Amino acid sequence: MISILCPCYNEEAALPLFFERVMAVMEKIGESFEIICVNDGSKDRTFEILKMYASSDGRIRVIDLSRNFGKEAALTAALDFSKGDAVIPIDADLQDPPELIESMVKRWHEGYEVVLARRADRSSDFWLKRISAMMFYRAHNVIARPHIPENVGDFRLIDRCVVEALGGIRESHRFMKGLFAWVGFKTCTLDYTRDARAAGNSKYNACQLWKLAVEGITSFSTVPLTIWFYVGSFTALGAFLYGLFIFLRTLIFGVDLPGYASQICLILFLGGLQLLGIGILGEYLGRTYIESKRRPVYIVREMYEKGENKNADI
Ligand code: UDP
Ligand code: MG
Repeated sequence: MISILCPCYNEEAALPLFFERVMAVMEKIGESFEIICVNDGSKDRTFEILKMYASSDGRIRVIDLSRNFGKEAALTAALDFSKGDAVIPIDADLQDPPELIESMVKRWHEGYEVVLARRADRSSDFWLKRISAMMFYRAHNVIARPHIPENVGDFRLIDRCVVEALGGIRESHRFMKGLFAWVGFKTCTLDYTRDARAAGNSKYNACQLWKLAVEGITSFSTVPLTIWFYVGSFTALGAFLYGLFIFLRTLIFGVDLPGYASQICLILFLGGLQLLGIGILGEYLGRTYIESKRRPVYIVREMYEKGENKNADI
């Protein structure tokens, strides 16, 4: 069986199109399937629409989260409840073309445990988003391990063994692209053209994208923490050499008092550097603090299957 996982947040406009296209593709493939939609605390009619689809088709299951937990948590919920031998996370906005699923399944049958879908053409994305995404992938792959493949989102096929491996990771700061890469397994890549959103608006603004990028780097690298040892060492060495220079200059040319401007510059520069270091320390400390609380990643209010209302106790 194949599980299609779809996190939905305020997607009332996109859902009818989504079901229409996904159903058509899955029926063409001809294998049994389920579609798990997670309502991530939507404020519009997303949940009512999902329930309507679930009551008319037993293959659609709906998980209703108690509030908006974010896409990473919604996807985790869907992964936890999925039963398929292969699992495919996909966005509700049809930016990931469902038609690619057919080739993904083919590659899976060839023996691949992970089939990645790479956005070969992102021209439908706003240029600033494309550039910032490129900078993020570069920066991440320089300082964090394992590498995350460039321009590969959550849209991919993963085998049950990968889902099991992911199930064992319960950190509350979840950067799914990083976790997918971290678990590894036999991987191949398919290219596709990223379409524009079918309906509705993107749920990520610049601030949220920045937070996600920080999440991605801090979750998989401690380089921003340890780099301060080297920055400090080089600054101290520089300060020592500069001190030596002033000492010798004073010996040779006598006492020279002016130097207010250079002093102020140095004090401000070093003060800024220290605050930056403390800020980064704070970033990691904050994450350790949140992680130490061991709160669940998401809370399920209810589950809908075959039109029935099942109370979940997660
Ligand atoms: N999403 C979610 N919870 C959120 C934000 C987004 O479940 O808090 C879902 C959203 O409904 C969509 C997917 O995540 O199915 C991707 O979101 P979006 O298309 O807004 O992101 P973009 O494609 O702009 O990066
Ligand atoms: Mg989108």
